[in-house]
Amino acid sequence: MIILQARAVRYEREMDEIDLPAFEPGSVWLVGAGPGDPGLLTLYALHALRSADVVVYDALVDPRILDLAGKKARLEFAGKRGGRPSPTQPDISRRLVELAKANNRVLRLKGGDPFVFGRGGEEALALVEAGVPFRLIPGITAGIGGLAYAGIPVTHREANAAVAFVTGHTAGGDLPDTLDWTALAKGIPVIVFYMALTHLPQIVEKLIAAGRRGDEPVAIISKATTAAQKVLITSLSACAAESEGIEPPAMVVVGEVVKLSRTLDWFTPLQEKMQAKP
Ligand code: SAH
Repeated sequence: MIILQARAVRYEREMDEIDLPAFEPGSVWLVGAGPGDPGLLTLYALHALRSADVVVYDALVDPRILDLAGKKARLEFAGKRGGRPSPTQPDISRRLVELAKANNRVLRLKGGDPFVFGRGGEEALALVEAGVPFRLIPGITAGIGGLAYAGIPVTHREANAAVAFVTGHTAGGDLPDTLDWTALAKGIPVIVFYMALTHLPQIVEKLIAAGRRGDEPVAIISKATTAAQKVLITSLSACAAESEGIEPPAMVVVGEVVKLSRTLDWFTPLQEKMQAKP
């Protein structure tokens, strides 16, 4: 306990020594909260949480991160809740504009990075259109940070000189029809899929039909960077069947870099130690 407190004090001091810009009333900060572990927040994100009047957050934002908001901050959930229809993207953008025009410091908090499959661009465009000043604070995206917590380097010398981030889900819920599967299968050694669990059988089928080997290593990382993280190491041909029962959110990684997890998995031993504690 004493150690924790001493650390916190030291941290406060460090924070004071860094000149971060003031969060001005009437503006919106679009902030990435990272994949889950609060330690992966940026200093900007923490500063925004402490100064915001309103925090508009998504389902993927870890509750421990919301706990860091200042006492005066109002928390507004902008995702699906208990069967009620979720607000549409225009609803959310409109709400951000409304809150900013009412002179609030509006923190729009999103899982991972706001500009990576996070619709941050759409919200930023709406803010520009409404003349609301905004700042974009990048976050650690699940496609990089989540892999790191599974001991998978997203690039590794000799294994891959390129990587692709691909979504398995469009806004309408389908597999995107704009993907060039042959180009992906033939040209990209490591493919990192977001939102891929629902359509995994089709994804596998398309990659194999386009020339990818069925025995290529695949990792599925569920709830990455949290205490509930689970990593399944499998193969392209087996992953769809084996993914049943895996809970979202999850990343699916296809490529030889997955093999490094065997040696570089630093997180599971820590997880086991935490779970073994009474
Ligand atoms: N902007 C986010 C991505 C939002 S799309 C980012 O940059 O990370 C939502 C998808 O992100 C999920 O379906 C899942 O594929 C992935 N994701 C987000 N957080 C995750 C986590 N903690 N573990 C595994 N996958 C995660």
